[in-house]
Amino acid sequence: MNKIQIHEKGFEIFLENETISKRTRLIGIQLNVDYEAKCPVFIGVLNGSFLFMADLLKEIDISCEVGFIRVASYHGTESTGKIKEAFGLPDDLKDRDVIIVEDIVDSGLTLQYILEKVHAQKPASVRVCSLLFKPAALLQPIEELAYVGFEIPNEFVVGYGLDYDGLGRNLKDIYRAI
Ligand code: 5GP
Repeated sequence: MNKIQIHEKGFEIFLENETISKRTRLIGIQLNVDYEAKCPVFIGVLNGSFLFMADLLKEIDISCEVGFIRVASYHGTESTGKIKEAFGLPDDLKDRDVIIVEDIVDSGLTLQYILEKVHAQKPASVRVCSLLFKPAALLQPIEELAYVGFEIPNEFVVGYGLDYDGLGRNLKDIYRAI
């Protein structure tokens, strides 16, 4: 399917699942090397990261812990910048190596909020792994953003965990708005 419609909006294929898988495998290999002999805590940011998190973690063969948090509500095609509470953040991150797993970094506001909460617990290290990154939309540099699947233009994308007004998270490929 090269073109789809969600609600009233048209989308075209952007990143096929196979392309995502290959890139995810490479990031996994890198993480296995970088965190060898450590026992990192992977924290996925719901809802958008659930598929990427699952596929990424299948590539990780070092010992690790896995959890999820939930933070923002996001409606329509523009980031509202309004962040709610963080739910489910572990409170025992002191001296741990933390890897935050995101679906997409757009303005970076969600991530800044999460990073603040995580750093407050004085972990040994904090890095971010995001499947997608829109550099043109970023408001402030984020030095923890160490692993990026794909840098993409400032366009609205959907699929592979990402929704458009609630729909499209189950699509195995990623589409962009036409
Ligand atoms: P930020 O706080 O970096 O502006 O936005 C992060 C969140 O906004 C993401 O976790 C995601 O939920 C949502 N978001 C940003 N850009 C897009 C996009 O292109 N498509 C979709 N579906 N969500 C997006």
